[in-house]
Amino acid sequence: MSLIVQKFGGTSVGSVERIESVADKIASFRDQGHSVVVVVSAMSGETNRLTDLAQQVQQSPTPREMDVLLSTGEQVTTALLSMALIKRGLSAKSYNGRQVKIVTDSAHTKARIKHIDDQAIHADLAAGSVVVVAGFQGVDEEGNITTLGRGGSDTTAVALAAALKADECQIYTDVDGVYTTDPRVVDSAKRLNQITFEEMLEMASLGSKVLQIRSVEFAGKYQVPLRVLSSFVEGPGTLITLESDNNMETPAVSGIAFQRDEAKLTIKGIPDTPGVASKVLGPVSDANIEVDVIVQNAAADGTNDITFTVARNDLARAADVLENVKQELNAVEVLTDDAICKVSIVGVGMRSHAGVASKMFATLAELSINIQLITTSEIKVSVVLDEKYMELAVRGLHTAFGLDGEPVLAQA
Ligand code: ADP
Ligand code: ASP
Ligand code: MG
Repeated sequence: MSLIVQKFGGTSVGSVERIESVADKIASFRDQGHSVVVVVSAMSGETNRLTDLAQQVQQSPTPREMDVLLSTGEQVTTALLSMALIKRGLSAKSYNGRQVKIVTDSAHTKARIKHIDDQAIHADLAAGSVVVVAGFQGVDEEGNITTLGRGGSDTTAVALAAALKADECQIYTDVDGVYTTDPRVVDSAKRLNQITFEEMLEMASLGSKVLQIRSVEFAGKYQVPLRVLSSFVEGPGTLITLESDNNMETPAVSGIAFQRDEAKLTIKGIPDTPGVASKVLGPVSDANIEVDVIVQNAAADGTNDITFTVARNDLARAADVLENVKQELNAVEVLTDDAICKVSIVGVGMRSHAGVASKMFATLAELSINIQLITTSEIKVSVVLDEKYMELAVRGLHTAFGLDGEPVLAQA
């Protein structure tokens, strides 16, 4: 008999019918004798709907009030799912983040979990109940409701699995596992039987939103066995593992990630002197704007250009900051571009394969796609491109690195 934490995402609990079928699934796990803790998201579209409502009242609501509002979505699904379980003759109890308690820091709308009080859950499990917990939310030391950032129910599930020392954390979603790239963009994407934590972390941070980044960090840190599966079709899903599978030749590239919502800024003609990068990027970071790719290029004439990318919705603020920097440093000009994307190839196999980056560049050249920026790490190469080439680039690279399979997407 094992203890399993199962998380069901928005589409999986998107209607009463779907909540009923999730209840059937949980009931069959209980029949097999497993103890089950369930984490649920809000019904699909609900978090966006609540965000829109807030915006109708106030352009930039305070993060504290946003958290009070957004946390309601998950509370609805916990109660409905518990009712559906009770209707099936099971014992079930729903909890919101504050009741559990899932204690977080006070960084509203992007809070981090500090600890979880698991006593009540253990007591309920011992009494034979299914425990249904609201994902995405917690409470800070002062009792304020917090939320964990978009996609945060994944992190609630993994954190609970770590705290309860569960045998496995299962993330049920609308695809049947982690694919070589988003199967909604590339038909021939293949489901991976397994992927390492390291690769999954890169994929998630480079734009594959199938798992929230922090959930993968948590699972790696606390060694939580983590699996991504479909709520709608049976199958083994994808296991996130510590080591790559040694039985098979490790491919150079395991997956391709992409991100559309980025923007690029360039400040041209600044002095090529010590401290100039800090003078440009310091004020950006002081304005709480997260910077992604940074490229600095010193010209032969003693001037310097710095280009960097930010989230698209931070572009206007970042451009304002750079205009001030431009005055201060007597720079030539500030350029902005909000029609870029980032495409990345990821794989632990890159450590042992040569020529991976050059193959990527050659593939893009054959497709006549211009590369604007390049950044690399040990297990990834990312390029910034004109947004209109994103799908073409992802498909071309998917084929070039031998990732294509039969179109087998199992989806909702
Ligand atoms: P949930 O609401 O269940 O949390 P999400 O929408 O957050 O679901 O995540 C599932 C989605 O992630 C899929 O529908 C798919 O479009 C997308 N996705 C992006 N990259 C990948 C990938 N490499 N493998 C599988 N799914 C991916
Ligand atoms: N409901 C939240 C969101 O849409 C959290 C989640 O689903 O994981 O981002
Ligand atoms: Mg999600």
